[in-house]
Amino acid sequence: MYQIDDKFHQQGQFEKPSVSNYKPLRICILGGGFGGLYTALQLGKFAKCPYKYEITLVEQRDHFVFTPLLYEVVTGELHDWEVAPAYKKLLAGSSAKFYQAEIQGVDLEQKLVNLQNGEIVNYDYLVLSVGKETRLDVVPGALEYAQTFRTLADAECLKKRLLFLEASDIPVIRIAIAGAGPNGVEIACKLADRLKKRGEIHLIDRGNEILKTFSQSSRTVSYRALLKRGVQINLNTNIEAINFNKIIINSQDKTRHIETDLVLWTGGNQSIQWIKELNCQHNQQGQLIAKPTLQLTGYPHVFVLGDLAEIRDIKGNESPATAQAAFQQAPRAARNIWAKITGRKLKSFSYLHLGEMLTLGIKNAVVYSFGITLHGNLAGIIRTGVYIQRLPTLKHKLEVAKRWIVRGMKKLLQR
Ligand SMILES: Cc1cc2nc3c(=O)[nH]c(=O)nc-3n(C[C@H](O)[C@H](O)[C@H](O)COP(=O)(O)OP(=O)(O)OC[C@H]3O[C@@H](n4cnc5c(N)ncnc54)[C@H](O)[C@@H]3O)c2cc1C
Repeated sequence: MYQIDDKFHQQGQFEKPSVSNYKPLRICILGGGFGGLYTALQLGKFAKCPYKYEITLVEQRDHFVFTPLLYEVVTGELHDWEVAPAYKKLLAGSSAKFYQAEIQGVDLEQKLVNLQNGEIVNYDYLVLSVGKETRLDVVPGALEYAQTFRTLADAECLKKRLLFLEASDIPVIRIAIAGAGPNGVEIACKLADRLKKRGEIHLIDRGNEILKTFSQSSRTVSYRALLKRGVQINLNTNIEAINFNKIIINSQDKTRHIETDLVLWTGGNQSIQWIKELNCQHNQQGQLIAKPTLQLTGYPHVFVLGDLAEIRDIKGNESPATAQAAFQQAPRAARNIWAKITGRKLKSFSYLHLGEMLTLGIKNAVVYSFGITLHGNLAGIIRTGVYIQRLPTLKHKLEVAKRWIVRGMKKLLQR
């Protein structure tokens, strides 16, 4: 185990290490999603740092998931390897090491991470970015009969179920989707396009509109896209229970049931239990409270980013819990860790909302940015292009872009 001179990493102080007392600093990144993976990749770029440091990314899965493109796995528009590349491949050539393990908890005072396999990882600097998890225990039967849509395994499971239903002799495939936020709306459109006339899709939400946090123009375009595809939109509707072949809903004090072959649960995230149990400040939702520099309040050597944290800029504006926000936070976290190691001033993070993009069926999308709304096939191309540009590592971007362009050209020639 590496040891570091205590004076060197005392909170808020910086002391240039002498050759004799200097050992590599251990930077441990927990969670390889938008926050963690992109921080690891960015940190690896600070080659000019005169002080050695070791970066370890600890993550339970062997692959990253670019969630905004997960829907395309279900429709076959993209392959698994494009949307969910392996960490080993992404981090090859980077100075960050990948360690696949499930994290059980962190002792912030002792600066150590407990892993499920019994191992302990010591750190000098910690990045916490394990995101949130889907909450299923809110409705009776959801745990047993509803599927989540968050991981590659979820997408694969959904694909298998669809293949099974498509191969069966049932005339209509009935799907209920809980939650009319972006995930619900996007998967509803994709499933409607995949199943065409054979699909009967219900989108259910207790609120009075779809896509609550989105711009009015994105909402209008999305609403039309859902109606055009025959998706039945049930707003102001509570889901009371889920059974193996039906979902019980209540609207305006009337209870009824919808028969289903598949229920997808997209509403409601919650903080991970061991994050809620950390000995530090949390908000009411169990999120960790970050300073504008992305440091965990009370722990200057711990950086927090992504969905698990409440992050406000110096004016008090809160970052949303989105990939877009985590993607922007990662380079700032990396830069601030480097700044702390090298004795530079830390900079505050400020979120810039670049716009909204939603897939609304196969090759169809809405893109809203700085007051301009585009929709249809062109928006679909822009959305895919922008996301390819945001995939991790240049090598992976080029591989996916090449395949996407070749496929597009083939389709054009076939016309
Ligand atoms: C289907 C879907 C589509 C989405 N589309 C968009 C979109 O279009 N635009 C947008 O801005 N946002 C989108 N989001 C939201 C976006 O994915 C999240 O806001 C973003 O991923 C948050 O990043 P994060 O780093 O905080 O967490 P995550 O990306 O969730 O990463 C957390 C990582 O931590 C790992 N982890 C968790 N617990 C442990 C543990 N105990 N041990 C080891 N590893 C652990 C997980 O495996 C995961 O890899 C979408 C989400 C979903 C589910």
